[in-house]
Amino acid sequence: MKTLLKAETSDKCAYCESKVSHIDYGDAEHIIPKSVRPELRFYYDNLTYACSVCNTKKSDYHDTECPMLNPFVDEPSEHLMAAGPMVLRAPHSDRGLVTERRLCLNRSELIERRKERIEGVAALIDQIARTSSPTIREVLRAEVEEECKDEREYAFVVRAYVAAALRWTA
Ligand SMILES: [Zn+2]
Repeated sequence: MKTLLKAETSDKCAYCESKVSHIDYGDAEHIIPKSVRPELRFYYDNLTYACSVCNTKKSDYHDTECPMLNPFVDEPSEHLMAAGPMVLRAPHSDRGLVTERRLCLNRSELIERRKERIEGVAALIDQIARTSSPTIREVLRAEVEEECKDEREYAFVVRAYVAAALRWTA
């Protein structure tokens, strides 16, 4: 079961987007906690893959009025926004606020690793802006696209940076 879940999330924690094998062994995470709905314990749609930090922080949080974002159902960008390496609640989104705070989505180690990812892509975009060769530009643009894919770590902040930075390269 865990292997399947891991493949489904590309080995990323469904909440903080860290590649889980890099930091620990990962946990099958119950979206609605076992303590609240024990009968859903083995129900596949209620399971996802999370790092142990997010899993512990989420713990037994369950509030039907203000549920934490469900990575399978909700579109994160409707509730959260990226500002550089930070992931912040979108203004007025209670669910975004609960998710950001409860999971501590701006833990210092996450900020550090997101910064490294953004720096890496920034270097590529610098090259795009400076090259005069259309061929090189194409190659670099394809690389940037790769960096933005769902399976890449911290794709949420990387995509926001790329969207803002690419307009300088037109
Ligand atoms: Zn996590």
